[in-house]
Amino acid sequence: MNITVPEHILEMDRKDPLASLRNEFNLPAEFKGKPCIYLCGNSLGLQPKKAGEYVRMEMEKWAEMGVEGHVKGKYPWMPYHEFLTEKMSAIVGGEKDEVVVMNSLSVNLHLLMVSFYRPTPKKYKILIEYNPFPSDRYAVESQAKFHGIDPADAILELKPEKGTSNVSKEHIERVFEEHGHEIAMTLIGGVNYYSGQYYDIPFLTQLAHRHGAVAGFDLAHGAGNVPLQLHDWGVDFAAWCSYKYLNSGPGAVSGVFVHQRHKNNFDLPRFAGWWGHDKESRFEMGPEFIPIPGAEGWQLSNPPILPMACMQASLEIFDRAGMKSLRQKSEKLTALCEKLINDFSGERIELITPTNPDERGSQLSIRVIHSNKKLFNSISQMGVVADWREPDVIRIAPAPLYNTFEEVYRFCEILKKCMNEEL
Ligand SMILES: *Cc1c(COP(=O)(O)O)cnc(C)c1O
Repeated sequence: MNITVPEHILEMDRKDPLASLRNEFNLPAEFKGKPCIYLCGNSLGLQPKKAGEYVRMEMEKWAEMGVEGHVKGKYPWMPYHEFLTEKMSAIVGGEKDEVVVMNSLSVNLHLLMVSFYRPTPKKYKILIEYNPFPSDRYAVESQAKFHGIDPADAILELKPEKGTSNVSKEHIERVFEEHGHEIAMTLIGGVNYYSGQYYDIPFLTQLAHRHGAVAGFDLAHGAGNVPLQLHDWGVDFAAWCSYKYLNSGPGAVSGVFVHQRHKNNFDLPRFAGWWGHDKESRFEMGPEFIPIPGAEGWQLSNPPILPMACMQASLEIFDRAGMKSLRQKSEKLTALCEKLINDFSGERIELITPTNPDERGSQLSIRVIHSNKKLFNSISQMGVVADWREPDVIRIAPAPLYNTFEEVYRFCEILKKCMNEEL
């Protein structure tokens, strides 16, 4: 399909201060002689070119040094996770002792809930977002059961107003007025995976605290996407994966935040492992568990170096770009996409992501009215990599690190053409 991209769109790319970062990524294979339009960074972010090099470095070190690699070389494996902490902290607005990378996301949610979900007979409910990612629902339900509580009674799900896809602050306030005395903890997806709604995290945190509840968040779609200030906002705990906007590769290691106010609270129950043990005395191999103060104390196992090497390559790019300028570009890309879609959407498709830029990140969810997957299949055949969520949503994520304004324009032209051909 021949698409003429207007000059003012090309100009947006020429003026983009982050434009050169696209060169830091391996763009997926050509599509019929043309590059595909990759709008799926909210599912699996693209590979930083340096990732392979950093992994090879560790492979070579292993080959050359064997066990010595734990303590030798440029990045000794024993403290390897520490080389990632500072850059990861900057992305989520945490202090260094509040952030650690370890395990994967669902595992970490459980470890954190073991410590922070402390139900009592009167205060035992978990407030979750509307339409959460299934793993989060399974996690909170099984935590309730673990405490002998019926999940149907324990789980409270936010609901959007009739005829809308998003949850208003007024509604959230009403829920707390009615149920605040029973809510023990929140576990809210900061950015909802389906609708793209970005919840007001400081607002939710304050509400939770005012009602004596612990404020926990899943930031799988938030980290690396929207600017976060977890420390200043007073969030109690959070976890996120790093293979989506954080581009650290399939199955990449997850990040965890635990607020400083819990740093020295060793009375919290926790599932312990030797990597969470005081570093000075860890190798004395004593029988008594002495936790590291702060987030690192929640670690269990010695970390997987190879995926962390990928993460290192990705975090370097984030460090160069900075979340502030990424957010600025993200807002422009998303707004352009929204405007172009609204110009032709008509009766066939509808955007369900909030229109207010403060309530969304780099994602638009396009609801296909009278759903079938045909429109999604047609755009896929034209070289667009997006994703389909049952029953009726195409999700796209223009990622500011590597997507261009031109790609957004091309995508919208393809969507328009496929839509019109169907009618
Ligand atoms: C992607 C995602 C997950 C995935 O969990 P893993 O443990 O990394 O497989 C969980 N929760 C949310 C909200 C997600 O968006």
